[in-house]
Amino acid sequence: MTDHAAPAGQDPSSAPHHADLSGLVACPQCDLLNRVPQLADGARARCPRCGTVLLAPRAGAAATIVALAMGALVLMVVAVSFPFLAIDASGLHSEASVIDAALSFAEASGRMAPLSVIVAALIVVLPVTRLVALIYALWPLAAGRRPRAHAAAAFRLAMRLRPWAMAEIFIIGVAVALVKVASLAQVGFGPSFWAFVALVVLVAAKDTILCERSLWRALETAR
Ligand SMILES: [Zn+2]
Repeated sequence: MTDHAAPAGQDPSSAPHHADLSGLVACPQCDLLNRVPQLADGARARCPRCGTVLLAPRAGAAATIVALAMGALVLMVVAVSFPFLAIDASGLHSEASVIDAALSFAEASGRMAPLSVIVAALIVVLPVTRLVALIYALWPLAAGRRPRAHAAAAFRLAMRLRPWAMAEIFIIGVAVALVKVASLAQVGFGPSFWAFVALVVLVAAKDTILCERSLWRALETAR
């Protein structure tokens, strides 16, 4: 079912200075200000000018996102604790974890130490912060309770960190590097590698389900 949102401003009584602003949604593509009513789960509101989906609430979205985020957290623990790669070349065997990979910049040269901190932050700390913030903000919603006091701040943090959580970019970088290394040495994948791959799939599934504006509305309504 697709509902077209009504452009705000057609109705003279909705002039901004005395209007209820809570139902207004600006189109992220064309900036048209739309008045979107409360939608049933599974319905979609589209911008009447350009067709961009404005709201797409799903039944049980908060519960699904919390479940996927918790699964991703468990996988992150596995990904950090176990060996990531094992390399065999001319009789020498070497194993490395994700943490070893991040720390290797600091070992190579003192001046590269800040790079270790940045790599560890982008592939472990920020993704974990995002997952914890989402669980904190959405768990009560999933359980049908009132949101916690700092739920809005936690949800905003999770949304702001979205472009900076780069576990999936790390996996692509590893894949590119392995194409080079595979011709020189025997490369084996540790449990951590597969945990990372599964983590990337879970996070992608979570971000697909996550309709930010619908969840903001749900948080507002539940308060
Ligand atoms: Zn639009």
